[in-house]
Amino acid sequence: MNLHDAHQHFHFEPLTPHRAAIDADLRRLGVKGAVVNGTNEEEWPVVARLTRDHDWIVPSFGVHPWDCGNRSPGWEKTLRATLLAHPRAHVGEIGLDRWILDLKPDDPRVAGLRVAPLEEQCEVFAAQLRLAAELSRAASIHCVQAWGALMDVLKKNPRPARGFLLHGYAGPAEMIKNFADLGAYFSFNVQLLEPRHKSRLDNFRHIPAKRLLVETDAPTKPPAGALNRFPLPPAADGSTVNHPANIVVAYEQLALLRGVPLEILAPQVGQNFRRLFL
Ligand SMILES: [Zn+2]
Repeated sequence: MNLHDAHQHFHFEPLTPHRAAIDADLRRLGVKGAVVNGTNEEEWPVVARLTRDHDWIVPSFGVHPWDCGNRSPGWEKTLRATLLAHPRAHVGEIGLDRWILDLKPDDPRVAGLRVAPLEEQCEVFAAQLRLAAELSRAASIHCVQAWGALMDVLKKNPRPARGFLLHGYAGPAEMIKNFADLGAYFSFNVQLLEPRHKSRLDNFRHIPAKRLLVETDAPTKPPAGALNRFPLPPAADGSTVNHPANIVVAYEQLALLRGVPLEILAPQVGQNFRRLFL
């Protein structure tokens, strides 16, 4: 069976020592494509280099809302040049994050970051959305607690004709149709199985099959307990590392949720992946 991971970060540090084994596992499982998202300027060349060695990587370059405040003065020029040098690459991970604004400055998750206010995040997001539209690339979008602002930027700016991904969609049910009308695809990940996300999980029963994608967001968001079929050694901070081969677990869980056999779900998701990213 052919599988596709709509959103992950193969280049992140916790996966580095295991790259060869991960590559072999993905090939064995039938993973035909995975979008690997560089989230700041330093990561773009790393993702580009990995793309040369792994034919399943679909590269994506962007400035993540967490990295927005630390971008260089020439970031936009560099992003355009990087995209032009990689005609198969997309734009991401980009977006808006209001949750990060409430973290205390001494929180280790924001160590070394200048947290950009939402208005600045909106400007940087809009500029990248326009670039994706101009160059006909898909956009991979991260959004946390900023759904109204996201809708606003999407409506006021040119959008990629091929569409865009709302990765790990955790927004309100009533916004799904409006986002879909603007060209949205929605990717499922296993974090939505956590009890606190119950209402978000229900969304994925109803999202139209033609707009459905599946992701790991590896190395983050590992499946809980026995669902984690591809355990890796913990990261430096002790957290559990999500092996990208757990994409098969995400497919299985989504198939159960929608009451659709995997043999039907996987080709549909594959078609959607190719329409948006290939
Ligand atoms: Zn991500």
